[in-house]
Order: sequence, then C-alpha cells, then structure tokens
Amino acid sequence: MRNVVIIGSGCAGLTAAIYAARANLKPLVLEGHEPGGQLSLTTHVENFPGFPDGIMGPELIENMKRQAERFGTEFKSGAVSEVDLTRRPFTITVNGEKHQTKTLIIAAGASARLLGLKGEKELIGRGVSTCATCDGYFFRGKPIAVVGGGDSAMEEANFLSRYASKVFLIHRRSEFRASKIMIERAKANPKVEFLTPYVVEEILSPEGLVNAVRVRQTETGEIRDIELDGVFVAIGHDPNSTVFKGKLDMDESGYLLAKHGSISNIPGVFIAGDVQDHRYRQAVTAAGSGCMAAIDAEKFLEEHKDS
Ligand code: NAP
Repeated sequence: MRNVVIIGSGCAGLTAAIYAARANLKPLVLEGHEPGGQLSLTTHVENFPGFPDGIMGPELIENMKRQAERFGTEFKSGAVSEVDLTRRPFTITVNGEKHQTKTLIIAAGASARLLGLKGEKELIGRGVSTCATCDGYFFRGKPIAVVGGGDSAMEEANFLSRYASKVFLIHRRSEFRASKIMIERAKANPKVEFLTPYVVEEILSPEGLVNAVRVRQTETGEIRDIELDGVFVAIGHDPNSTVFKGKLDMDESGYLLAKHGSISNIPGVFIAGDVQDHRYRQAVTAAGSGCMAAIDAEKFLEEHKDS
C-alpha cells in the first residue's frame, strides 16, 4: 500500500515527487509513455527561474529526477492502462501490475497533436516528427518544414535551422499565436522562410520516406509542392486523460478539472501540470502545481490518518 502514487514524470510529477518524498511519503512515480514529459523533448529553456543562462530541457528534467530520487522516490516505467477510483485505496494498473494507493496525483501531461493527414502517423520516423530536439540531427543539410504558428513552431524553426539547409514555416493563418520575441527571432533567421496562410494538404512519400509536402494557400487556393525531407508538426498538444474518462471531471477538450489548486472531484485524487492546464502550460507553472498537489496529498493523508 502506497501513500502517494504519481502518474507522470514531467515537471509537475517530479516536483510533486520531490515534495512528497521530502514529506517522507515514499512516493511511487509511474513514468508514463513519455518519460520526462515535454521538457525532455525541448531544447534551450530560458524562462525557468534560477538559470540566468538557460538550461537544456532534458538536463533540467534529469536534475529534477535526481532530486526526487535523493529523497526516496521510486520510479516505474510504463503507461497506466487502468485506474479504479471508485474506492480508497485507489488501484492503478501499469504493465499488468496493480498498485494500491491512499492518494493519487495525476500529472500525466499533454501530448503532441498531429495534422490528421493520410499516412502521417506511419511516416513518424520516416520524415515526420513532433520532436525537433530528438530528430533535428537527422536532417543535416536538408530542407524541412515546421507546421504551426505558436511558440513551439518558432522555437523549432530556429533550432532546426542549425541543421537544416532551409526551414519552411507553414502556418494556416497570417497572424501568429507565438510571442513577439519568438516571431522576430524566426523572421530574422535567414534560413527560415514563412509560408502563410498555407495548409498542408498532403505529405508526399512515394518511396516510404517524406520527399515533399503539398500545400494550399487558403486565400487564393493556389496549390504547390515543396520538396523537402522532413516535416516537424508543432501544432499544440492534447491532455493525456483518456484513461480517466468517465472517472474524473474534465472539460470538453479532455483537460482534467482542478479546484483550489489541485483538488479533483474525488477526495484523495489530486491533479497537476498540463493535464489540467491549457492556459499557462509552462515548466514553472507545472512545477508549481506539482508542489501544490503534493502538499494537498500530504494534508489529505494527515486528515484521513484513521480512515
Ligand atoms: P499553441 O500556442 O497552441 O499553438 C499551436 C499552433 O498550431 C497555432 O498556431 C495553431 O493555429 C496551429 N494549429 C493547431 N492545430 C492545427 C492544425 N490542425 N493544422 C494546422 N495548424 C494547427 O501551441 P504551442 O506552440 O505548442 O505552445 C503551447 C504553449 O507552450 C504556449 O503557451 C507557448 O507559449 C508555450 N511555449 C513556450 C515556449 C518558450 O517560451 N520557449 C516554447 C514552446 C511553447 P491557430 O493559431 O490558427 O489556431
């Protein structure tokens, strides 16, 4: 029987683990399908307080993991396949193994969206990617595209320009969601060419590897093919909440609903990070909410000592 099981090993889950471990609760972290979460897939993080020169996302997350381990956190790999939240202790199933816990912190994060084009999923690893840090190196000296108009797209376009011979930034509108500083950086980059308002109609891969994209100018209807080797999809994320459907309150997009910090509609279940946050979605806000969830779990255990 565990005091606290934490689902997710991103910034929120690891911060919850640090706090829960330092409260002597011996937390178990279930790492999920993307260990380390989104920070492990990102590059330079310049806005996490305490790092005046920035820090690489994977290094930041590795530091958090070491910090959680130092105070006695246990880690298990694998994604959660089932949860029973109908009674306490709760039962969480991972890799066929059942874990019972008095409290549960859900910090399952959010995952990258795809465009929904035919063959797109099958082409992941064959020219389609949702992770510039992971795959940029494979496109040394080759033309590529980044799709999206948010900060992720701008950041990836700049990052990928280190490797690629040319980066087409394809966005469906002429206005951007990205912050001004990120747009300016991408615009100032001689390797980045903006294509707006364009949508990707098709990813062409006659021999099983991406070799072009067919794009359409949304105002004129003009269609053109752009020869390239890689397509980086940077169009946002969806919360990893499928396993909690019908079990916890969520909004129409699947984001879990937390009240007063991390409190869910089931006593003893707490929610942290991007799985409940479509507004801020920052490493530092995820860390903050992980901290809140651990403190809430600790207080709950204290108040329910005898039950
Ligand atoms: P985002 O801000 O939600 O932007 C997603 C972009 O993808 C939007 O431009 C959207 O277009 C486009 N899009 C969505 N679905 C699409 C589809 N089916 N087809 C074509 N385009 C589509 O997501 P994000 O860029 O991943 O950023 C998420 C959060 O993380 C933001 O709060 C951001 O500030 C933060 N972030 C910060 C940094 C940094 O500061 N270093 C880096 C990365 C991310 P529309 O605009 O037309 O809807």
